Amino acid sequence: MIRLSKSSLGKAEKNSVLKVLNKEFLGMGEEVKLFENQLSDFFNREVVCVVNGTSALHLALQAIGVGKGDEVLVQSVTYLSSYQAISATGAKPISCDININNISINLEDAKKKITSRTKAIMPVLYAGNPGNLFEVYKFAKKYNLTVVEDSAHAFGSVLNGKKIGSFGDISCFSFDGIKNITAGEGGCIVTNNKKILSHVRDARLLSVEKDSLLRVQNKRSWEFDVKFQGWRYHMSNIMAAIGIIQLRKIKKIKQKRYQLVKRYIKNLKNNENIKLFDFDYENIIQHIFPIRILKLDDREKLQKFFLKNKIQIGYHYFPNHKLTYYKKNKNYFLKNTNIIQDEVITLPLHLDLKNSDVDYVCYILKKWLNGN
Ligand SMILES: *Cc1c(COP(=O)(O)O)cnc(C)c1O
Repeated sequence: MIRLSKSSLGKAEKNSVLKVLNKEFLGMGEEVKLFENQLSDFFNREVVCVVNGTSALHLALQAIGVGKGDEVLVQSVTYLSSYQAISATGAKPISCDININNISINLEDAKKKITSRTKAIMPVLYAGNPGNLFEVYKFAKKYNLTVVEDSAHAFGSVLNGKKIGSFGDISCFSFDGIKNITAGEGGCIVTNNKKILSHVRDARLLSVEKDSLLRVQNKRSWEFDVKFQGWRYHMSNIMAAIGIIQLRKIKKIKQKRYQLVKRYIKNLKNNENIKLFDFDYENIIQHIFPIRILKLDDREKLQKFFLKNKIQIGYHYFPNHKLTYYKKNKNYFLKNTNIIQDEVITLPLHLDLKNSDVDYVCYILKKWLNGN
């Protein structure tokens, strides 16, 4: 079976975890601090590690004061995490349409949805592609909004020579098992803002003041005060042990993913039934390989056909504004989102794929398009 996505781990990750297990200090300690420092060198900014990407988004929003009664602009085509992180604060996710060429947030639509309660905008760097991120920052400045980037797909991507996470308000990354680099689970918040850094450092450990600092010195606060709502969102040494090794492989990971993406493009361009997205392929680390099948009428049938041929395909994503929990907000009509809902599929992309696997996936897809 050719899997849609998977983790790829070597001996070094396994040895690194074993070392932590043997030390019998599994919680947040030395390894987490080391991983944060290495990430900090990577981004040239301070970094706070947390238990996953969803909690990174949640804490980032809380740190900028988003809460009950507030609104956050977000594209409907994203992983559910973006929405859940917003609603976890008590705020409302306000569903925006996308630009069809690269699934970035559509700012014309976003503009119409600004109210006096709008506090922030959450662009999703879909597939690892920054899309219109610079325009999002201009937009945010104009309307006095904070940008919380959902960069879960975009670890290692570069825009105009700058790494995602190295500029802007706040970037949130995920290290879940199938993301560009993994820590088993995990995530991080990257920003220059000292107040936000201090807030999320405390909030990830039940808002016990300065507990983060003590724990990495193998100490903790026994008598303390708490001034705001916190969570158990810290990263463990086991996770950091994996992340530390993965980060060292980032150049190789970029090369390999780019090689596979180029192979897909070579196979699929100039096909009248297929529309490829306008991604900045050379400068991003592509997390998934989505394509549009024009006038696709039955994704499930296509999915079954692939499975019969031992290939898993995916669908990123079902529009969040159509979920029961979120559609009560307003009954939005999002034109491009609807098109994507019908036409997008995701082809396998992970580090253990070979060029011949990509060729086979494309062969099967073309077979289906030619009427099986
Ligand atoms: C993976 C992902 C997240 C959340 O990350 P977790 O580590 O799984 O919590 C958020 N947004 C998007 C778009 C993602 O793909």
